[in-house]
Amino acid sequence: MAVDSNLSSPLGPPACEKDAKALRFIEEMTRNADTVQENLLAEILARNADTEYLRRFNLGGATDRDTFKTKIPVITYEDLQPEIQRIADGDRSPILSAHPISEFLTSSGTSAGERKLMPTIKEELDRRQLLYSLLMPVMNLYVPGLDKGKGMYFLFVKSETKTPGGLPARPVLTSYYKSEHFRSRPYDPYNVYTSPNEAILCPDSFQSMYTQILCGLLDRLSVLRVGAVFASGLLRAIRFLQLHWSRFAHDIEFGCLDSEINDRSIRQCMSGILKPDPALAEFIRQECKSENWERIITRIWPNTKYLDVIVTGAMAQYIPTLEYYSGGLPMACTMYASSECYFGLNLNPMSKPSEVSYTIMPNMAYFEFIPLGGTKAVELVDVKIGKEYELVVTTYAGLCRYRVGDILRVTGFHNSAPQFHFVRRKNVLLSIDSDKTDESELQKAVENASKLLQEECGSRVAEYTSYADTSTIPGHYVLYWELLVRDGAKQPSHETVTRCCLEMEESLNSVYRQCRVADNSVGPLEIRVVRNGTFEELMDYAISRGASINQYKVPRCVNFTPIVELLDSRVVSAHFSPALPHWTPERRRR
Ligand code: AMP
Repeated sequence: MAVDSNLSSPLGPPACEKDAKALRFIEEMTRNADTVQENLLAEILARNADTEYLRRFNLGGATDRDTFKTKIPVITYEDLQPEIQRIADGDRSPILSAHPISEFLTSSGTSAGERKLMPTIKEELDRRQLLYSLLMPVMNLYVPGLDKGKGMYFLFVKSETKTPGGLPARPVLTSYYKSEHFRSRPYDPYNVYTSPNEAILCPDSFQSMYTQILCGLLDRLSVLRVGAVFASGLLRAIRFLQLHWSRFAHDIEFGCLDSEINDRSIRQCMSGILKPDPALAEFIRQECKSENWERIITRIWPNTKYLDVIVTGAMAQYIPTLEYYSGGLPMACTMYASSECYFGLNLNPMSKPSEVSYTIMPNMAYFEFIPLGGTKAVELVDVKIGKEYELVVTTYAGLCRYRVGDILRVTGFHNSAPQFHFVRRKNVLLSIDSDKTDESELQKAVENASKLLQEECGSRVAEYTSYADTSTIPGHYVLYWELLVRDGAKQPSHETVTRCCLEMEESLNSVYRQCRVADNSVGPLEIRVVRNGTFEELMDYAISRGASINQYKVPRCVNFTPIVELLDSRVVSAHFSPALPHWTPERRRR
């Protein structure tokens, strides 16, 4: 029920007093976006004035935007790599931030094949928590009654390491789930999860997933929303259920947990939850044994009102599959965030995925925007509707004018804060889960595999392109290869090409290999050999559609259906990677 009308917000009537406060905060920040940004930059510059990095640029104590922009360069991760390496190696002097770097957040973006290390400071956790605390008050404006049930969210921690200097290096969500902010969160009726902390915090991804799904099944009628961070994660959970439903049914029938689940804290916690329920076990068997899994989410969890998953950016490829499994439930993309900094939230979370816009919260960091094709960065409040920009951030933790690599298009404003459609990440060719493979990484991988091909049978890869195949769960990379087989040489054997698949996987970056090995969120890479002349046909097709013959370049990734169909119709043989590539949590040193 809506509260007292004098608490009302321009965004809509809040569901409770706590929500009213959160909505007021959003209003205050977005109305005063420019002043908030100006003050925030001054605060960061004053606080970090004596850091080695800022001193290098002789700001002379200035904290204003003009001096900052004139004297400090816009940089990329590679520019900052020496400083980051020193901090990682144990240098505790104030290099980037006056506040001690508490840990490194390992981004899914890579540099030289390894995850980028983003420095962070303790208080950033509060800032992230603040953004999280705004999400439900906004959602409650659109979906009533979410305090009457639970959210079934599939949340996971990933492996972490220590840098040579002893700082933890782990993904931002692992850091958050392991923090007191998450583990000791006060009870909030709008934020009750079916997954116990013990399951979320279990480092073994199989046991974690198993327990989270089991808990979701046991509590199926309470579930009002179903989610994961990204769409690929939710689909992985559905696939897991498809593979293991009979084990879940068995556990539920007899009230005893599968013996493969040996994590002590999970077993202890489940002993209080799992009781024999033969009727539920029978229900699960009936629903899951059929070949037809259409609407499985709403069949098993009939009270689900929406899916809470990010389906913007690279994740848009999963929308049709999620629609199939959920019978067309709305998909809410609630926030936009990264390891560098959490950026903002979607003030209209029930909007269609193609229309999602994120409102950047001006209290999170200092934001600048470089127009696509331009060089001069503009302020948050000065971006223009319809234009595309690259996002640049200056954070409390010490990133200064750092290019995030995301391209955003302005769709409108909420008060004076702009709203952005996420267009794409720069230089990403292929992505299935959190992996991001760029053109040069793919090129290197093909070169390495081509070398192997040449050694084993004298053939070479003449042309190639790629495709992210998400028709299976997990999805996988497909490489289309046209071969150059020397006169008299024999066609490469199946064994040779499968070895080439693995060689390519070994050459891809560590996030790809982690997805393959530890997360099982990317399937074996596939090479489809196409018959000679296929790439010429591809060029003819592009030219028939208006491409210039002089400027034509083979696209290194394809996703336009007629092109994929053309390639598939020319396939002479298909080969999959026969094994997992190498991956360990430890980083390779440069
Ligand atoms: P990471 O540094 O691994 O946390 O990845 C952060 C990146 O994920 C961002 O810079 C975006 O490219 C992408 N990302 C995060 N949130 C969203 C979103 N809501 N929609 C599309 N892409 C997103």
